[in-house]
Amino acid sequence: MSKHYDLIAIGGGSGGLSAAERAAKYGAKTAVIEKGLMGGTCVNVGCVPKKIMWYAGMLSHALDDARGYGFGVKRLGHDWQKLVDGRQEYIKGINDWYHTYLKDSNIDEITGEARFVDANTLDVNGEQFTADHIVIAPGTTPVIPDIPGAELGMTSDGFFALNEPPRRIAVVGSGYIAVEIAGLLRALGCDVTLIIRSETVLRGFDAMLRNVLMEEMITAGINMMSSMQIEKVVKEDDESLTLHCDHGHVISGYDEVLWAIGREPLTADLNLSAAGVEMDTRGYIPTDAFQNTNVNNIYAVGDVTGQAALTPVAIAAARRLSDRLFDNQADRKLDYTDIPTVVFSHPPIGTVGLSEEQARKEHGEAVNVYTSQFTPMYNALTEHKTQTAMKLVCVGAQEKVVGIHIIGLGADEMLQGFAVALKMGATKKDLDDTVAIHPSSAEEFVTMR
Ligand code: FAD
Ligand code: NDP
Repeated sequence: MSKHYDLIAIGGGSGGLSAAERAAKYGAKTAVIEKGLMGGTCVNVGCVPKKIMWYAGMLSHALDDARGYGFGVKRLGHDWQKLVDGRQEYIKGINDWYHTYLKDSNIDEITGEARFVDANTLDVNGEQFTADHIVIAPGTTPVIPDIPGAELGMTSDGFFALNEPPRRIAVVGSGYIAVEIAGLLRALGCDVTLIIRSETVLRGFDAMLRNVLMEEMITAGINMMSSMQIEKVVKEDDESLTLHCDHGHVISGYDEVLWAIGREPLTADLNLSAAGVEMDTRGYIPTDAFQNTNVNNIYAVGDVTGQAALTPVAIAAARRLSDRLFDNQADRKLDYTDIPTVVFSHPPIGTVGLSEEQARKEHGEAVNVYTSQFTPMYNALTEHKTQTAMKLVCVGAQEKVVGIHIIGLGADEMLQGFAVALKMGATKKDLDDTVAIHPSSAEEFVTMR
């Protein structure tokens, strides 16, 4: 006999866990099916290990910067293994906590790979489970290019498994993961080449952010190669990797190649057709605004929906879904507009709302832009200087703020509060009417002319 639940979530990542947790709070009988480690991508091979590595990169910069403040700092090297061991111990603590938390919350943990049998039934290792509501949240996996020798490279998953730092690495890609990993590895002293297929990193972000980041990466010593596509990877007799690129370019001598060219949904093995759930041509599961798929009582949340692939988005959508299903909040749904996001580059980027380009496309002449670019006070005494650049994108006579963009030290912590203001409909005057905090970088946002 199969075991029956009010709600089953497929995937113990940000989305699946949040749907089950919120449903259980309302008294629903729930289970989470996870084939890997509890916590999903974010906890195990995403946000958490990445942020630890980013902190390591920031500390490496800080050691150099400290000299300018009078400290006699002598670098005695860096123990990569200690960093990795500490990081994994921290993650194990989160994994362990999840098991206890799920038990305490009366959420059943089912270990294994879920496959649909029909619209209400899932098979896991030959055992069947039924539910009134099924939430699909299997997330995504890194894309590996279809070129000869691609298997010689690694993805972000492989990066987090490295037990020693790469000496010389080629990072391929131009999105979040490429710029984040390239930046932190360079900060930790690795020789990094970033290979991008177009002219710019972070396409779709405001041009100011892209330009300043590219300048900062070059200043940091990252070898930027643009408008370049890799056609083949070859392992040489001395074990080094050679990249054969378009237009006959050949670059060699790498001990690692990292593919950071996007991710694809983990839907192929779910047997979705047995339940009648539709996917788009790329394998993502489309939903309406309430996370409903095309099949009644089957929902999708998180990265698998192909919308903003961020942990807080998966969590917010999942919680709202369970509010609707189990707490009679019929209109509860996530508003996918104006989602703030931070890129943990060196220096970090914080951005919310429309880029200047998008705003001009949508609002034409009604757009008014304020910018500020400066060296932050932190760098007053440091040998290495970083840039901070900020932009406010405003629209109409009231100068409603529709975009806020920052690159610079502290951007990661600065954005959240300003994102609240934007979401509440703040105008330029509202910012001007707010007293500045001095001395800070953030004060520029309330003093721009
Ligand atoms: P996931 O977290 O991927 O969870 C899905 C789970 O489902 C996985 O554990 C998987 O094993 C399981 N699963 C899949 N198929 C099945 C099946 N058939 N049966 C059972 N289990 C299954 N976001 C941020 O907001 N900030 C960041 O700083 C950030 N950094 C990132 C860094 C990296 C390197 C990466 C890769 C991602 C990062 N993200 C970040 C994105 C974030 O990790 C994802 O948006 C988030 O994890 C999505 O949650 P999810 O629940 O949709 O999927
Ligand atoms: P992204 O979608 O951010 O970037 C991938 C980029 O790779 C594309 O934009 C594309 O750039 C380039 N690309 C695609 N195919 C190829 C190819 N064949 N050859 C060379 N370049 C190619 O994906 P990521 O994998 O970096 O990250 C996945 C998602 O995870 C992100 O979008 C983000 O939502 C989330 N994430 C969030 C983080 C955060 O919040 N800090 C950190 C890490 C990930 P172009 O088209 O311009 O050439």
